[in-house]
Amino acid sequence: MTAEQLHTPCYVIDRDRLEENLKVLRGVMDRTGCRILLAQKAFSCYAVYPLISQYLCGATASGLFEARLCHEEMPGRENHVFSPAFREEDFQEILSICDHIVFNSIRQLELFGFRAKEAGLQVGLRINPQISTQPAEHAIYDPCAPGSRLGVSLAEFRDGIARNPALLNLLDGLHFHTLCEQNSDDLETTLNGFEKQFREWLPQMKWVNFGGGHHITRADYDIPRLERCIERMSQGYGLTVYLEPGEAIALNAGYLHTQVLEVQHHAGAMDIAILDTSAACHMPDVIEMPYRPPLRDSGQPGEKAYTYRLGGPTCLSGDIIGKYSFDAPLKEGQTLIFEDMAIYSMVKNNTFNGMPLPAIYLKQGSDYTLLKSFTYADFKSRL
Ligand SMILES: *Cc1c(COP(=O)(O)O)cnc(C)c1O
Repeated sequence: MTAEQLHTPCYVIDRDRLEENLKVLRGVMDRTGCRILLAQKAFSCYAVYPLISQYLCGATASGLFEARLCHEEMPGRENHVFSPAFREEDFQEILSICDHIVFNSIRQLELFGFRAKEAGLQVGLRINPQISTQPAEHAIYDPCAPGSRLGVSLAEFRDGIARNPALLNLLDGLHFHTLCEQNSDDLETTLNGFEKQFREWLPQMKWVNFGGGHHITRADYDIPRLERCIERMSQGYGLTVYLEPGEAIALNAGYLHTQVLEVQHHAGAMDIAILDTSAACHMPDVIEMPYRPPLRDSGQPGEKAYTYRLGGPTCLSGDIIGKYSFDAPLKEGQTLIFEDMAIYSMVKNNTFNGMPLPAIYLKQGSDYTLLKSFTYADFKSRL
């Protein structure tokens, strides 16, 4: 199928771009001996799990369902799981399919850690090094923000193992996840603090997991500094280093194709184009993060001759994707292509207002294959 034949709105996964990212990540693994996992919460399009498995060591899950997806679609690869709190009813199945489990609190470790160990899993604990490296307006993405529910502080760790020394013997590894779309200078800052705080326990661990949020495949990312961080842990303490990026794996490796439904002119206001895709339904991070997604062949407002506010077809006044300018006026039926739409899109979309879910296509070279399409039944079946 060609680009002109795609039914909009639709997501397109760019296999070649994905593979370029995977090669960059594989390079880090090959040079340092670290192990990189796919964080499935960012991108769970399992049609490309066989490709991802050729390059990476496995995946990490936020709970039972993602763990099952890895178990079924990346057979034989490492299957890690972390959750702020596990449920008793899920636990047996998690033990039967995962090989690494990371607990979020001393209480969870006490409650579930012994059974995980007996079942042969490697057991980890999530640490909160309490080092914020994100801008204050990013607080919802900062697990080190005051009052965070994510991870165990040094004081809590000391107190927990003093009360119950057997807990320390359960631990094969420590985990921290504090970054979001950041470079390796922020990783280094975090690692400095983590190492200072937890140095005395590192020699008895097998691994340390640096979490996600490393924008490794972004053009300006400082990979040598990342590799020095990894080697500090592997050479200094004999630890295996895990990284579990989500974004970096499918960064700039997907698009959202949409069509202009109507162009509106309002006296004294910017022109508006209503699209057949919705920010609220199909790219919720645009509103939640918030951010302005890149749009092919467009400019900043006022940069090119014709500027529009692009909005979705739902009832929500704030269903606005952003302001973009174009060389020529937009026309009904014209296709627009939002870039960087593989991550946190398909995994987060919804059918608010009865909006149809976008189809999913795979692009290889200039050929497009339909992976999934959705109908009224998908909307109805969830209600
Ligand atoms: C979100 C998350 C990741 C992946 O983060 P990205 O920003 O997509 O790289 C990895 N590990 C944990 C624990 C997370 O919560």
